[in-house]
Amino acid sequence: MTKKTVGYVKMLWSCPRCATRNPGPQKFCNGCGAPQPADVPFEQAPEEKLLTDAAEIASAKAGPDVHCPYCNGRNSGKAKYCGACGGDLAGGKARDAGKVAGAFRSAPAAPITCSRCGTSNPASSLQCSNCGASLAPAAAPATAAPLATPARPARRLPVVLILILAGLCGLAALAVLLFASRKTEVVGVVDSVAWERSVSIEGLRAVDREAWRDEIPADADLGSCREAHRYTSQDPVANSTEVCGTPYTLDTGSGFGEVAQDCVYEVYDELCSYTAEEWAVIDTLVSNGAAGLPAWPSVSLGANERQGEQRESYSVVFETADGRYTYTPPSASEFSAFTIGSQWNLEVSGFGSITNLQLAP
Ligand SMILES: [Zn+2]
Ligand SMILES: [Zn+2]
Ligand SMILES: [Zn+2]
Repeated sequence: MTKKTVGYVKMLWSCPRCATRNPGPQKFCNGCGAPQPADVPFEQAPEEKLLTDAAEIASAKAGPDVHCPYCNGRNSGKAKYCGACGGDLAGGKARDAGKVAGAFRSAPAAPITCSRCGTSNPASSLQCSNCGASLAPAAAPATAAPLATPARPARRLPVVLILILAGLCGLAALAVLLFASRKTEVVGVVDSVAWERSVSIEGLRAVDREAWRDEIPADADLGSCREAHRYTSQDPVANSTEVCGTPYTLDTGSGFGEVAQDCVYEVYDELCSYTAEEWAVIDTLVSNGAAGLPAWPSVSLGANERQGEQRESYSVVFETADGRYTYTPPSASEFSAFTIGSQWNLEVSGFGSITNLQLAP
């Protein structure tokens, strides 16, 4: 996401000594003259207006103010010496900056009624126009929904249950291993053999597809195109539509707030239908037999046809004192060794599969 600055606004701070609400840029209280303490935060004004004054915007961009290490007085981030006591600000502490105060309050806020004399004052007033009392908004509008919903921690299974399950799984695996590793030796006679070989035939076929215009094969027949959302970029890119979230106010630490919004860039492109020739399986030729040498099916190709995948499979059935076992030789050359009636020493696993075999001497 790209953070875009919309503009700057003035924030407020409330004096902890006399409750007077002061404009953010002001470093000393209007009511009692005390400096703003370092731990008193800036608040959003009930109604925020983007600043137009160049000097104010420059101060808003200047960075956080610094508190004097000797008298705690608030000074501009650029000052070298404290305006209140003259102390060196080199060891001073900069105010926190970059915290989200809430959604940008661009809508007109309700007037504030003075609690002392009942006069109605505009939302932007800090003091009553009639009696001069400090004004606090009746009910500050609820701060904006958090910009990013924190992920809810996944519910965890109780540790004991996990341990029990793991233990059971381990026991089951051990039992399977023991059973599988149990091997028996038997003598088998080749009772029957079988082989099967197949060849697929592929033909060129016209197929309708859809793809981004720059990904369509050059020799395809282009159909109709339409604009479609291709991807969303976190950074600005050419030919994109900017989509921005709700503006919010960030405390800059200088008494001013930065109004910003997070934007993404949706890139649209031409999605087109096209017709292209593609190879597809149109037939599969199969040869098989229960004796003799395996052979591939004979292939004769027509126009716009080609030979596709070849498959082969072999099986040998042994008759033993324990019953019948089937073996699948991996290749034709191995298969050719199993003549009907020949005797073999077999090693059979717990699952009944032949794991090793040798022609009996
Ligand atoms: Zn005060
Ligand atoms: Zn000072
Ligand atoms: Zn009043």
